[in-house]
Amino acid sequence: MRNLLALNWKMNKTPSEARSWAAELGERYEEGNAELAVMAPFVTISTLAANLPAGVGLGAQDVSAHESGAYTGETSAAMLADVGVQYVVVGHSERRDYHGETDNVVAAKAKLVQANGLLPIVCVGEKLDVREKGQQVAYTLAQLHGSLEGVGSDVVIAYEPVWAIGTGKTATADDAEELAVAIRSALEERYGKKSSEIRVLYGGSVKPDNIASICAKPNINGALVGGASLKVADVLGMNDALKDA
Ligand code: PEP
Repeated sequence: MRNLLALNWKMNKTPSEARSWAAELGERYEEGNAELAVMAPFVTISTLAANLPAGVGLGAQDVSAHESGAYTGETSAAMLADVGVQYVVVGHSERRDYHGETDNVVAAKAKLVQANGLLPIVCVGEKLDVREKGQQVAYTLAQLHGSLEGVGSDVVIAYEPVWAIGTGKTATADDAEELAVAIRSALEERYGKKSSEIRVLYGGSVKPDNIASICAKPNINGALVGGASLKVADVLGMNDALKDA
C-alpha cells in the first residue's frame, strides 16, 4: 500500500499563501513516493483545488455532523465534495479537546463524509496520563470503536498520541507500531478482509528525519503531519525520505 502523507495545515495559511505554497510545490515535486494530500482550512480549499500539482490530493480538517440546514457557521460534507475534496479529518484531538467532540459526533461526521463519497481520516490516540499508566492500547481501541460506530470500511485511521502532537516528542517507531498492530486487529474484527485495504497513519511530530523509520513499520501506511507540512522543503524532504518505503 502506498504511504499517504496527509498534511494538516491546521489554522495556518491564507488563500494567497496557499497559492504560493502550491506553486512552489509544483516547481519541485515529483510524484511517485508517497501520496500527498493537503488538509486545508475551508477558505483555502478552492484555491488549492485550482493550483495544486497533479496527483496531490485535497482534504478538509473538519465537517459538520449535520447534513444541511440551520447550522450557522458549519460546512457540510456535500459542500466539501462539491469543491473537490477527497479526504476529511474527523476527531482530531484539537477538535475533541477544544470543541468537545465526542466519539458519537466523530462517528456521525465520518458517516456523512462517506455518504458523500469522501474518505474520513478518523483520529484516535491517548494523552500522556493514559500512556504513563500503560493504558494506551485499551484507551485508543475504545476511542476507535466509539468513533467507528456505524461507519463503513472506506476509512483511514490516524493514530496520534496527543502528547506527541506539536510537542517535538515523537513516539518511537516501536510505540507507534504497537498501536498500529492493535488498531489493525480491531479493524479486522470489525470489517473482516476489507480491513487489509485500510491505511493506518501515525501522527505526532513527524519530520523529514524521522518519517522513514516510522513508515518502515509494517502496519503503518503513512503519516498525518502538522508542523512539518507548512514548508514545502519539509514536505519534499518527507516525500524523499519515503522513496524506498
Ligand atoms: C497533527 O496536527 O495532527 C500533528 C500530528 O501535528 P504535528 O505534526 O505538528 O505534531
